[in-house]
Amino acid sequence: MKAVVIEPGSVLGVLGGGQLGAMFTMAACRLGYHVAVWDPDPEAPAHRIATHSFPGPFTDHHTLACFAELTNVVTYEWENIPAELCRSLEQQKPVRPSSAVLSVIQDRLEQKGFLASNGFPVPSFARLTVPDQLATAVRHIGYPALCKTATSGYDGKGQWRISQESDIRVVERSLSESARPGMRWIVESLISFERELSILVVRGADGQSCTYPLAENEHEEGILRTTKVPAPGSLAVAERAAALGHRVVDRLEGVGVFCLELFQLPSGELLINEIAPRPHNSGHYTLDACSVSQFEQQVRAICGMPLGEVHLLSPAVMVNLIGDDATTFVKGAGSRTLLGIPGAVLHLYGKREIRPRRKMGHVTFLGDPLSLALDRAKQFREGLGNSPSPSA
Ligand code: ADP
Ligand code: MG
Repeated sequence: MKAVVIEPGSVLGVLGGGQLGAMFTMAACRLGYHVAVWDPDPEAPAHRIATHSFPGPFTDHHTLACFAELTNVVTYEWENIPAELCRSLEQQKPVRPSSAVLSVIQDRLEQKGFLASNGFPVPSFARLTVPDQLATAVRHIGYPALCKTATSGYDGKGQWRISQESDIRVVERSLSESARPGMRWIVESLISFERELSILVVRGADGQSCTYPLAENEHEEGILRTTKVPAPGSLAVAERAAALGHRVVDRLEGVGVFCLELFQLPSGELLINEIAPRPHNSGHYTLDACSVSQFEQQVRAICGMPLGEVHLLSPAVMVNLIGDDATTFVKGAGSRTLLGIPGAVLHLYGKREIRPRRKMGHVTFLGDPLSLALDRAKQFREGLGNSPSPSA
């Protein structure tokens, strides 16, 4: 399928219709493509803007047949979609990144196994197939450790911290209570990192690839809160991150947009936390601060088009609007206040229901130098009044 080029006017299929699917859809439409969105949730944001909307369950054979018939190429907006579905679609249409790549990435054990066996740096980890192996796994890894479900986790969900021996029994019970048949977990060393970083890598079907500037991320309760670009600090770290990104995605033979989440250790060493086989929340700044966004690159890569040349037009700070943060934007005067802040770009995802920990939108603050964007983000977050401001 390598030589397939999908021309504008064609129909691009996307599995998953959340904000990432919606931003992909907008980028595709701008380039003259039509988009078919398949998401079982009829309220998913991308359905509102898709040319063709498929709200059926991912197991529905009729939807599968119609979707495959209609689309010229298929991608996905997140990794927790059934790999089996991608394999079925791949019998009929190109799926990019491939179902083989998805299978490796969507299972934390497979993914870490792939990275470790190829010599890429990752935190030490152990496999857990029954909860009562937890003590043995932690003995192998040491304290503190973090246990994660092998599949289906996101935004810090499905994770248990194990700081000391007395935590073992509590976590073991929690694993047993939430266990489903065949469920597995990964136990990782809890890394005392200096900071979290991420790098976007775009790779075309011809094997050409490019990276975006290194980003620095802050998480709160396992959810991304802010991204600063370019990541302050030495150029050498950024170069090592980019080289690592190219090597990992080449080794995967991935076609599309990938994001490596990284931990920087006090020694400067980089460890890979995880890989996303799709545009990433920490890359949302590319919509407003780059010559070409991560979503346009996703379109270009899966269509076999030339990749866009990446330029950072301005330093940027992205702040996620999570849960109640969005209340004043959806219902109150927040948008008006925000639009009065120079360099602020508001993105609301159009989700009807505000729920705790739910990503409702984000704001990108542009400013040159980065300290100006940081000041603007700080002013904004103080206005939100519910969380600490990003540190410079
Ligand atoms: P998710 O799929 O939910 O993003 P992650 O593995 O990226 O799962 O975990 C979410 C966040 O939890 C990370 O960004 C990081 O802040 C923290 N975290 C995850 N794994 C580790 C680890 N091994 N050591 C330290 N912190 C971790
Ligand atoms: Mg993550």
